[in-house]
Amino acid sequence: METIIHYFDTIPSLHRSLILVGGITFFWLLEGALPLFSFNYKKWKHAFPNLFFTATTIGINFTLAFVLLNSADWVQSNQFGIINWLPAMPLWLYAVLGIVLLDFFGAYLAHFVEHKIRPLWMVHLVHHTDHKVDTTTANRHHPLESMIRFSFTLLGVFVVGTPIAIVMLYQSMSLLFTQFTHANIKMNKRVDKVLSYVIVSPDMHKIHHHHMLPYTDSNYGNIFSIWDRIFRTYSYLDREKIVYGVDTFPNEATNSSLIELLKQPFQGYRKPTNM
Ligand SMILES: [Zn+2]
Repeated sequence: METIIHYFDTIPSLHRSLILVGGITFFWLLEGALPLFSFNYKKWKHAFPNLFFTATTIGINFTLAFVLLNSADWVQSNQFGIINWLPAMPLWLYAVLGIVLLDFFGAYLAHFVEHKIRPLWMVHLVHHTDHKVDTTTANRHHPLESMIRFSFTLLGVFVVGTPIAIVMLYQSMSLLFTQFTHANIKMNKRVDKVLSYVIVSPDMHKIHHHHMLPYTDSNYGNIFSIWDRIFRTYSYLDREKIVYGVDTFPNEATNSSLIELLKQPFQGYRKPTNM
């Protein structure tokens, strides 16, 4: 555990980029071998806006990384935050607790709020208007959403009290997990279901991408499914019944155009229809 923590304490940007590119490549290839839906699409053409948004997300996180680093150093030197206020514990437990709690503040809470506050939903909408969810959808986040999510991660660092090593370990795990849960891959249904008791499984997250409520407003989890279980936002729908997108924004041509997607948050608010 100490070796892992030490590695993530000073993880080079190159290694972080390799995790991202390696993950996309791995799941991209897997989608070819074990597809869940056989989309009739040009994979690169579909990937273009999504990879653009992945690049802006990286750019924003890279630019603001020093804020995260300084904050994590500050909570450490001041022993501030939940995991520092608890009685002394083994390193592995400290890391696990840090990761699970960061997953709540930095991801579940951010995502929940994005669905509940109108202007934030319009920003997050870009992620949901992909009609062909695959591993490239994972980081299809409007630049404004990348900033919203960054703010929640920062909040998480202060509330949870995580050192930078745990933040970096969490972010690397989160990257691979979102690529996995969005990947257009077919896992054994039973295995998927069992996994969904602990972690967010591919089918569990795909239900969140269904085009209508109440499914859109459920399964907000990022890595751990416990938050959806605890806050009763878990839902289940047979994967054969899933229709991707948002029913009130049905224009697939608009939803595939980078320019239109950049403007999407500034349109009038429309919430998905309740089934
Ligand atoms: Zn969402």
